[in-house]
Amino acid sequence: MKKKVLKPRYDCAKCPGYCCSYARIAIKDFDIERLARHFGISKTAARLKFTYRYQTKELDEQLLRHRQDHVFKSTCMFFDQDKRRCTVYEARPSVCRIYPEDRTCGYYEFLKFERIQQGDEDFIPSA
Ligand code: SF4
Ligand code: SF4
Repeated sequence: MKKKVLKPRYDCAKCPGYCCSYARIAIKDFDIERLARHFGISKTAARLKFTYRYQTKELDEQLLRHRQDHVFKSTCMFFDQDKRRCTVYEARPSVCRIYPEDRTCGYYEFLKFERIQQGDEDFIPSA
């Protein structure tokens, strides 16, 4: 029998894009390749333009670059800060495709609760 796909319990269209404000959005080589294809530039140029290397004793990651935001401290450089959505949706990295890996999103639950408390369906709590 075919497994039933359950509908997500969150609606990204009603969210200010909290997950796109995560400081460490680590992407892989194939994600950089996909972005390079999307923009018609070389992989080297895409790596430089869209990512930077983050190294600690334990980590060595290639992170998406950010820019300052008016809702959160900063967001991914591909986030449209007025429309609150991804501008490279078809070419977005794998990590963005699988998040939040569940039917529920923790931030969305928090957002729903705060909006009910405030009686304002557009309320954005400071995260
Ligand atoms: S934080 Fe959750 S609800 Fe908001 S955009 Fe990300 S996945 Fe969607
Ligand atoms: S690539 Fe798109 S979905 Fe991924 S963090 Fe950036 S704006 Fe968000």
